[in-house]
Amino acid sequence: MPTFETQTYWDAVNDKRLLLKTCGDCGRVHYTPRSHCPFCFSAATEWTNASGRGEVYSYSIASRAEPPYVVAYVKLAEGPMMLTNIVGCPPSDVRIGQPVQVTFAQDAEGRTRPYFQPAKKGAA
Ligand SMILES: [Zn+2]
Repeated sequence: MPTFETQTYWDAVNDKRLLLKTCGDCGRVHYTPRSHCPFCFSAATEWTNASGRGEVYSYSIASRAEPPYVVAYVKLAEGPMMLTNIVGCPPSDVRIGQPVQVTFAQDAEGRTRPYFQPAKKGAA
């Protein structure tokens, strides 16, 4: 459930934008929507737009689900790791290191969520 800290994040997701937090003190980027930097505990964090690009860091296939789906850690271009699902391709096509890009779809509860799909070839 969205909280005060995450409301901005979910508002952006509903708007099909992926936000990250950038720390104003140490400059590091983190994904977890929270008000304090997890690296230096600074409160000087700001929302920034993610590029939506990344690569598959690790994944597992939920093969007993119908249809099977892929749970993956995607390493975002900005650096943070994000636990997500890979969509838009057969689970057997997913590879570690595969370039992916964000896409948005509704989950079973009708909430818009960020997922990742294989990056289109030639896309910047
Ligand atoms: Zn920091």
